[in-house]
Amino acid sequence: MSLIEKLVEALDGRVVTEPSTMEAYRHDQCLVATAGMPLAVVRAIDAADVAAVLALADQHAVPVVTRGAGTGLAGAANALDGCIVLDVSRLSTLSIDPVARTATVGPGVLNADLDAAAREHGLFYAPDPGSRAISSIGGNIATNAGGMCCTKYGVTADHTLALTVVLAGGETIHTGRTTHKDVAGLDLARLIVGSEGTLGVVVEATVRLLPAPAGTATAALTFPTVAAAVGAVLAIERVAQPSAVELMDETTVHAVNLMTRMGLDEVPTLLVVTDGTDPAAEIATVADVAAAHGALAVFHTDDADEGSALMEARRVALTALEQLGTTLLDDVCVPIHRLPELETRIAKAAAEHGVTVGVFGHAADGNLHPTIVYDATEPGAAERAQACFDQIVLAAVELGGTVSGEHGIGTLKIDYLEQQVGTAERALMHRIKAAFDPTGILNPGRGY
Ligand SMILES: Cc1cc2nc3c(=O)[nH]c(=O)nc-3n(C[C@H](O)[C@H](O)[C@H](O)COP(=O)(O)OP(=O)(O)OC[C@H]3O[C@@H](n4cnc5c(N)ncnc54)[C@H](O)[C@@H]3O)c2cc1C
Repeated sequence: MSLIEKLVEALDGRVVTEPSTMEAYRHDQCLVATAGMPLAVVRAIDAADVAAVLALADQHAVPVVTRGAGTGLAGAANALDGCIVLDVSRLSTLSIDPVARTATVGPGVLNADLDAAAREHGLFYAPDPGSRAISSIGGNIATNAGGMCCTKYGVTADHTLALTVVLAGGETIHTGRTTHKDVAGLDLARLIVGSEGTLGVVVEATVRLLPAPAGTATAALTFPTVAAAVGAVLAIERVAQPSAVELMDETTVHAVNLMTRMGLDEVPTLLVVTDGTDPAAEIATVADVAAAHGALAVFHTDDADEGSALMEARRVALTALEQLGTTLLDDVCVPIHRLPELETRIAKAAAEHGVTVGVFGHAADGNLHPTIVYDATEPGAAERAQACFDQIVLAAVELGGTVSGEHGIGTLKIDYLEQQVGTAERALMHRIKAAFDPTGILNPGRGY
């Protein structure tokens, strides 16, 4: 029997081979990464389906690309030629334990749905990627997703307690812990977080929930230059513990205005949120610090609706820049005190290659998303955009940072990984991958 025949026999009704239907499963949201044509798409409905696919794929040495919601920005979920795309979005069980303050979920549960369910118990799920309404917990775990509130609450790894994972070959393991402490054994769960579907398929996760903040306050702070804005970030972090400090440069604000007609001042802007015991007092402190560090205008509010309307400007930043032309979205992260140098290097790269770069991102994490906007019909523009992109990524590494703060390596950044990670470290990563996946079927040829 062929592999397809065996899949159909084991997973009747969940196997798709029509090219037109498979087309929707070939790409994630990274518009520039290459994608192949799968042999088949399997729409799994439970962990047994996942185990069946991985056992058969292993026997036939056929690659498997696991797919959550397909919102990734690095091409990590892009199909490979002749692969099985394993769609786990239908594994969507969800239960909350309000006493233990944990949630146990299938990987297909959307981040925002988990958070909404937690809030019914006075709790919340902290990791909040900009894609929270559309990205899955399985994908968040596999990319170790960040978001706006990492400066205070950390990234997905900090909230992932225990995982059930199906390995290549179909064996299921349970790893991680729900206790506060546990030093028994190597931390396999931590290895799987951020491994981009290369070590195993997460079929269930237990995550930490926190008491929901009683309220929030939000500030919009404008500055004459990006350098002044990032200088203020460092000062703000010394006196307050905001839950978000988001930056938009003038190009990004202009794009947001064009798309939304919000009428924001088209200058570098920080949006800051506080959610501590007295958010209004904390935001007033933030505003004072900003004023003392050269802010042009300072506005703050403890009205939740007004605050979320302000934050909407940041949430639509990428979409707004995409309206201006073809975009090449980057994701670099440096130690926060080196942000001013990163900003200078981004501006230099943009000028040298004659391209427009809109900069926005999670300023308090040192994590920026410089987005190169170009006219793809103009001869040479794509090459200049790529050269600018390369220069920015290498600048981040030279500043002691990373080629990816939160979007991952995927297909997009494999070559850059070599520049950051040493030869011995990379070889060890390959040996770890081989221990999890001896046949090499899980998302092969990607970062690990
Ligand atoms: C508008 C927008 C805003 C975004 N904002 C942010 C942000 O602020 N922060 C951030 O970090 N990211 C952000 N992203 C990127 C993206 O949403 C995240 O990377 C997200 O975690 C991907 O989740 P997904 O369910 O879409 O995964 P997919 O794109 O389907 O897959 C991503 C990777 O995870 C693997 N994978 C998926 N599910 C599993 C599983 N169950 N087991 C093993 N491997 C699996 C895939 O093989 C792939 O390697 C944004 C994307 C968009 C479109």
